[in-house]
Amino acid sequence: MNYLYIYLFAILLIMTLYVRHYRRRHASDSAELEQAVQSGLAEPASLHPVVDPSRCMGSGSCATACPEEALGVINGKMALKNAAACIGHGACLAACPTEAITLVFGTESRGIDIPNISPDFETNVPGIYIAGELGGMGLIRKAAQQGREAMAAIRKKLGSQAADFDVVIVGCGPAGLSAGLSAIHHKLRYKLIEQEDSLGGAVYHYPRQKIAMTAPFELDLVGKVKFSEVQKEKLIEFWMDIVKKTGLKVSFRERMESIDKENNRFVVRTSRGSYTARTVLLTMGRRGTPRKLEVPGEETPKVTYRLIDPAQYCGQAVLVVGGGDSALEAAIAISQEEGTDVTLSYRSAAFSRVKQKNRLLLEQQQKAGRLRILLNSNVRSIDEKLVVIEHDGVPQRYRNDAVIVCAGGLLPTPLLQKIGIEFNTKFGTA
Ligand SMILES: Cc1cc2nc3c(=O)[nH]c(=O)nc-3n(C[C@H](O)[C@H](O)[C@H](O)COP(=O)(O)OP(=O)(O)OC[C@H]3O[C@@H](n4cnc5c(N)ncnc54)[C@H](O)[C@@H]3O)c2cc1C
Ligand code: SF4
Repeated sequence: MNYLYIYLFAILLIMTLYVRHYRRRHASDSAELEQAVQSGLAEPASLHPVVDPSRCMGSGSCATACPEEALGVINGKMALKNAAACIGHGACLAACPTEAITLVFGTESRGIDIPNISPDFETNVPGIYIAGELGGMGLIRKAAQQGREAMAAIRKKLGSQAADFDVVIVGCGPAGLSAGLSAIHHKLRYKLIEQEDSLGGAVYHYPRQKIAMTAPFELDLVGKVKFSEVQKEKLIEFWMDIVKKTGLKVSFRERMESIDKENNRFVVRTSRGSYTARTVLLTMGRRGTPRKLEVPGEETPKVTYRLIDPAQYCGQAVLVVGGGDSALEAAIAISQEEGTDVTLSYRSAAFSRVKQKNRLLLEQQQKAGRLRILLNSNVRSIDEKLVVIEHDGVPQRYRNDAVIVCAGGLLPTPLLQKIGIEFNTKFGTA
């Protein structure tokens, strides 16, 4: 009889603990979702999971597996509580014991344009290929694999028309880097251009010391790359070392501006010149090109379009331009450095789509006199030692050592449509 009581007590205890855990999780995940909705950040950027509620049993294994902490369990079912953090690598899908999860592009209200590509990565414009995230498939491993496969396909279909290059590769993220190595491997005449001053693509822009998770992948000339978890800086260093060892040539700070077909070959116009090519491989990702201010002085080296290391601004007067989370995070981080004088300029009257956490930290730093916020303001010019900002219609001069512009990006879609590449808009479909 005693055993029965002990047994019943144990069951009751387990059930009580389970219900308490369930309620706590529901409450905290709901609060996080609510905050994302209020901040206007409830829409995923691209590929993301959706759940079939009839199959989901609320085990939470998807949420545990998600390295970006994008998932939660609300009302006993999987929920994308932090949609902006989802990068679509599908760890949740693999972890789901009931196969209730599907990965889809876009949502009912926000379509995502995915280019039409054949199985060998060729677009509807014969001779123009797309690999990596631009084609819809994110992840370091998949981008690298596609870059390699696309180059193998290009080699097989290469024509014999006269041109400067067999292939021009646009973009040096994981896909472009891998494609460049394959071009050397296949003895192709290639030109690899990158608009930024470093390789790495999206990885270069990860937050400092972010751990990237990746399954092993193969690179031509290098062999199997066996990282599973690797710090962003280490990965970039590893790729730079490959460039050095293999002699891969990357033309940095060169942006592709247009592609035209002339006499059976392509003319690729860039910010530095123009080249003729038999084929073009676009490995441009989906981040686009940083939006510029288009003001006098913007071309000076003190103007950048991302924050890499706040510590480098120690003791400096820094202007951050923009009103999104990246602008706020940059201004906050720099204002926490010793001796900085930070100004945050934003052209609208209020910050709208930003995380509550950033809003609070910003207010805190402003109250502490660590930064000034200029709403309704526009940068008019940038000089060696100062900037002119028009604030509420009045131009004012501020001491300045560095400018960081976080004004979003120009998406690659219009540029590609001009080239003739066709897209499919996906509204929450695979
Ligand atoms: C915050 C974050 C975290 C992530 N974490 C992971 C992770 O842990 N594991 C993982 O596997 N994946 C992760 N990803 C996804 C992964 O980084 C991307 O899927 C991958 O980098 C895509 O590679 P890509 O080469 O196709 O494109 P990108 O990496 O975007 O590279 C494209 C390159 O093309 C250049 N370019 C664009 N337009 C032009 C132009 N007109 N002219 C010249 N150059 C141009 C760009 O400057 C860029 O360097 C993460 C993504 C983000 C945003
Ligand atoms: S796709 Fe990746 S980032 Fe998005 S929810 Fe699933 S595991 Fe998390």
